[in-house]
Amino acid sequence: MTRTVYVNAEYLPEDQAKVSVFDRGFVMADGVYEVTSVLDGKLIDFAGHLARLKRSLDGLQMKNPLSDDEYLAAHRRLVAENGVTDGMVYLQVTRGNPGDRDFAFPPEDTQPTVVMFTQSKPGLADSPAAQTGWKVITTEDLRWARRDIKTVQLLFPSLAKMEAKAKGADDAWLVEDGRVTEGTSNNAYIVKGGVIVTRELSNDILHGITRAAVLRFAREAQMQVEERSFTVAEAQAADEAFVTSASSFVMPVVAIDGQPIGDGKVGGVARRLREIYLEESRKAAI
Ligand code: PMP
Repeated sequence: MTRTVYVNAEYLPEDQAKVSVFDRGFVMADGVYEVTSVLDGKLIDFAGHLARLKRSLDGLQMKNPLSDDEYLAAHRRLVAENGVTDGMVYLQVTRGNPGDRDFAFPPEDTQPTVVMFTQSKPGLADSPAAQTGWKVITTEDLRWARRDIKTVQLLFPSLAKMEAKAKGADDAWLVEDGRVTEGTSNNAYIVKGGVIVTRELSNDILHGITRAAVLRFAREAQMQVEERSFTVAEAQAADEAFVTSASSFVMPVVAIDGQPIGDGKVGGVARRLREIYLEESRKAAI
């Protein structure tokens, strides 16, 4: 089936959707994005993703080209037209097409480019990986220093993902000054003695929308949470580990650099948080 995609207020068959070769997103990675999960045809944590989009746009001094209602309507229309039950909507906003290549920002009146498309992932919430958990490797975090801005500069995370795959693992945890920042496309957690530990918010990591929800649910369930960084050795000695993201929800991690975590099986805290997150998110989905 040919997908319908959104490009600058038009809904087009995917093979007719085009962006200029001069687009700042293409030549400079000058753009930001969001990924919103879809479960049962509804959007998960949409308000959070819109709020972070605005924060990312502000961080790059870009104007927000659409209203909240316009983003929502476009997301819903794409989900409906493409018959997405489970999957995601990808949204990207770039600084647009200045008609040439120049390091200086284009004139104020240059229209941002807005693209949205869906990806169908039937059974997204029932991923078999959630039963067995991920194996991760660690690698040095060589990304730029504003990881709180969700830019489309994804080359380093992509290289780290490939390094993980080459080593027979599922993902990489990125490490700076001996301490874990986050996964290639997720936030990282450990559990020790019942305490959930995850790096505090700063420019060093993306402020995960799933992270915010999961920490809220954990606190509501009287679980103890510590927001601080941790070393790889501390993670390897933990009882449990897991990651969170919009597309993997809560994903258990069972090994770090070949070292099994706890008994090497999916941990109870990760399992419980995944269940709570999925249940509460489905209830609040729009
Ligand atoms: N960190 C990074 C580097 C990411 O790319 C992502 C996924 N976009 C996350 C964390 C998780 O964020 P969210 O829960 O909003 O998907």
